[in-house]
Amino acid sequence: MTRNSSSRSTDTAGSVRVRGARENNLKNVDVDIPRNAFVVFTGISGSGKSSLAFGTIYAESQRRYLESVAPYARRLIQQAGTPEVEAIECLPPAVALQQQRGAVNVRSSVGSVTTLSSLVRMLYSRTGAYPPGQPMLYAEDFSPNTVEGACPTCHGIGRVYDVTEQTMVPDDSLSIRDRAIASWPPAWHGQNLRDILVSMGYDVDRPWRDLPQKDRDWILYTEETPTVPVYPGLTPEQTRVAIRRGMEPGYQGTFTGARRYVLDTFANTKSALMKKRVSQYIIGRDCPTCDGKRLKRAALSVTFEGLDIAALGDLSLLKLREVMRPAAQGDYGRDGAATAILDKDAREAAVAERVAAGGSAHKAAPDVRRTPNMSEEKVVAAQRLAADLIERINPLIDLGLGYLSLDRATPTLSSGELQRLRLATQLSSQLFGVVYVLDEPSAGLHPADGESLLQVLHGLKAAGNSVFVVEHDLDLIAQAEWLVDVGPGAGEGGGRIVYSGPLPGLADVADSVTRRYLFEPPKPPARSPRKPRGWLRLAGVTRNNLRDLDVGFPLGCFTAVTGVSGSGKSSLVAQALPDLVSAGLGTAPPVAEESDTDPLLDAAPEATRGRTATGMDDIRRIIEVDQKPIGRTPRSNLATYTGLFDHVRKLFAATPEAKKRRYGAGRFSFNVAGGRCPTCEGEGFMMVELLFLPSVYAPCSTCHGSRYNAETLEIEWRGKNIAEVLAMRVDQARDFFDSEPQIARALTVLQEIGLGYLKLGQPATELSGGEAQRIKLATELQRVQRGQTLYVLDEPTSGLHPADVDRLMRQLQGLVDAGNTVVIVEHDMRAVAQTDWVIDLGPGAGEEGGRIVAEGTPREVAKAKDSKTAPYLAAAL
Ligand code: ADP
Ligand code: ADP
Ligand code: ZN
Ligand code: ZN
Repeated sequence: MTRNSSSRSTDTAGSVRVRGARENNLKNVDVDIPRNAFVVFTGISGSGKSSLAFGTIYAESQRRYLESVAPYARRLIQQAGTPEVEAIECLPPAVALQQQRGAVNVRSSVGSVTTLSSLVRMLYSRTGAYPPGQPMLYAEDFSPNTVEGACPTCHGIGRVYDVTEQTMVPDDSLSIRDRAIASWPPAWHGQNLRDILVSMGYDVDRPWRDLPQKDRDWILYTEETPTVPVYPGLTPEQTRVAIRRGMEPGYQGTFTGARRYVLDTFANTKSALMKKRVSQYIIGRDCPTCDGKRLKRAALSVTFEGLDIAALGDLSLLKLREVMRPAAQGDYGRDGAATAILDKDAREAAVAERVAAGGSAHKAAPDVRRTPNMSEEKVVAAQRLAADLIERINPLIDLGLGYLSLDRATPTLSSGELQRLRLATQLSSQLFGVVYVLDEPSAGLHPADGESLLQVLHGLKAAGNSVFVVEHDLDLIAQAEWLVDVGPGAGEGGGRIVYSGPLPGLADVADSVTRRYLFEPPKPPARSPRKPRGWLRLAGVTRNNLRDLDVGFPLGCFTAVTGVSGSGKSSLVAQALPDLVSAGLGTAPPVAEESDTDPLLDAAPEATRGRTATGMDDIRRIIEVDQKPIGRTPRSNLATYTGLFDHVRKLFAATPEAKKRRYGAGRFSFNVAGGRCPTCEGEGFMMVELLFLPSVYAPCSTCHGSRYNAETLEIEWRGKNIAEVLAMRVDQARDFFDSEPQIARALTVLQEIGLGYLKLGQPATELSGGEAQRIKLATELQRVQRGQTLYVLDEPTSGLHPADVDRLMRQLQGLVDAGNTVVIVEHDMRAVAQTDWVIDLGPGAGEEGGRIVAEGTPREVAKAKDSKTAPYLAAAL
């Protein structure tokens, strides 16, 4: 049933008219959505909000755009799939700002995402202070991502990576035969290298440290690759004899130095596992040529207000705005205030120039034609560029991102921060007449910052655009001019338009899950906070903006860390706490599961300082459940990640037909040759490169996306083949595998955590950060609970409807009841109200934050005087 109160109150000519939408779970829905309005799409997880907003409206706009710019791409568009919809009328071009899924470019930064960097490079090129005699540089010369600008030593990375004897030979009391060279390849390849050394007369049985330095250096560092006869299986003595007598060798073997093997493998291997393996022998340090600043010397010698471009890129946006102020007011390099912060050389050069120009250093009235650093043209250009920069930095600061710096790498940002960066960037793009489709812009935002978000959204609208937002935050939903509620349930139970109209009308729609939370929010279950059985105390914590902080977490309790964006919550909970506790446990910092991201580039540049003072005897394990993708390729999916696919494959291998054909469990894997489709090698998709456009995935023409070859698909378990099982949703699969306890248990947990709507084969690349996090949590929950585990979660409610938040909270409470300790970073005050202990950080962001503003039970913190969180928490209690 489609309820639509639009007919009277809005002019339908001003609406986007969707007819017959059937994408994913949408049930052939019709809906009219007003243009030039602030529209919010609501509904529980899996109800079909994204399928409507992104999968239908945005996708259709994108398809039309592709057709118009690239008629030749029509075939590709067909392969990539067009949205399942009969018609969409009056659809403006759409721009999507989605929570980023999957991997991001490691070289991208706040400056590049916002395009502020190109403005800054222009500023340095045109108006920077050059050392005397140095010719002017082009803007590209200031970019570490161009050949012109990159430091020649580190190629613009800022770090150099190399091996050392210590990393490659961790235990020098071992002989080569006993694997002294840990970095050598395993198995046959390693034996081969050893046998080659035997043929060459090296002593492989003496402890490494007793070998002559010359030999050790050659074995580790040589770039030579000699080929010699190898006699596998012979002792060194026998080998010597064999060589002397010119006996026929087993084979000819070619030697590679240990360093060269590690670096070549790291650079060239396609295997994430191999890459990870060799990366442990590599250590990185700041590039000695550019001091980690990534640019050529010539570029670094140019300054603006006394700062080289790398130093400017390290400033917070708040500081950057201050640095730009004098120049924007036309004071660049002219008065004492601006000159005062020029570095000594530049200041002396400026003074010399003024003196040469006949002026006095104090009166500062230079002859513009003879003062290249301070010419009138430069001052005018600096004024324009600096004013432009300030204008574009302002919305970023308004959105609570003033603590970020231009050089901050985007992989270190949360997906919410990244989306707000993109949002603010759109404000200066000056598009109009487009539909902006946004995915939960409130993610990561403290309730106190919600007002400025709303202003930015209204700014986009005021410029003549439509703003369509998928959102869960009740305060933001309450501001909607038009509401589209999708559902009422998830997956098969959803996909209908429960309501479409102005917000107040929702109050009459009994079916809507959203209605209840909006108009009569259920109070969190009344419970008294748990009593701590001890305290985990950290002392002297120093990390990012945390300086020498002492903080305690109650053991056996549920703690929420709150504070405005940038106050240091993640630095404390997701970085310092895991680092210090792992150090206390004597283990490596935790990751919930193997992540297959680049091991070196992931390495945190700054280490945590501090120590655990008390409470470590009560913690046996720490698990961090983060929002990082569970895999970067469509090869990992829900079933493989949770481990339940192993059991499923065994079931298939145990069927009579599989046994007859001698198909083992490996036959049913799409990750190894044998049972998978040979064309796409089990991907199910082929990547199609489009000129000038992001590449698209198209279903494989051989297996049509099933990933398997025809023979494998002939094997069935209870009437379904393996591809059909992967296509099942968790809810269906739970019934289907009812008789298989191990599989059923994993599926039940996924259901309980609200993921019943996901397909078993849902590729990791299609999961949102919140879904990835809940999958990790489910994987944990299905383990046997022994208690004494510390669970750490960064904003677990993001992407969740209030109804799903309640469900998640019950799971987390269950973990605490089982004797564990849970610490979360959280903005959702309904969730914070249900915890036992609150630590509020702040008072501001970046350097204005990093301190404990208030701590105590939720009721205590709600009364705290100087806490920005307190009033919002009080409202939720
Ligand atoms: P919401 O945005 O409300 O959380 P979605 O629109 O993402 O919900 O999902 C609605 C339904 O469609 C769910 O059952 C989901 O599993 C399914 N779905 C989502 N994306 C895909 C996809 N790429 N292929 C198949 N089914 C999908
Ligand atoms: P919150 O989680 O409260 O939003 P964060 O802990 O992420 O805040 O950030 C606190 C401060 O530390 C900010 O100034 C932020 O820019 C800085 N910061 C956080 N992570 C990093 C990082 N990986 N590298 C450099 N600075 C960081
Ligand atoms: Zn360098
Ligand atoms: Zn295929």
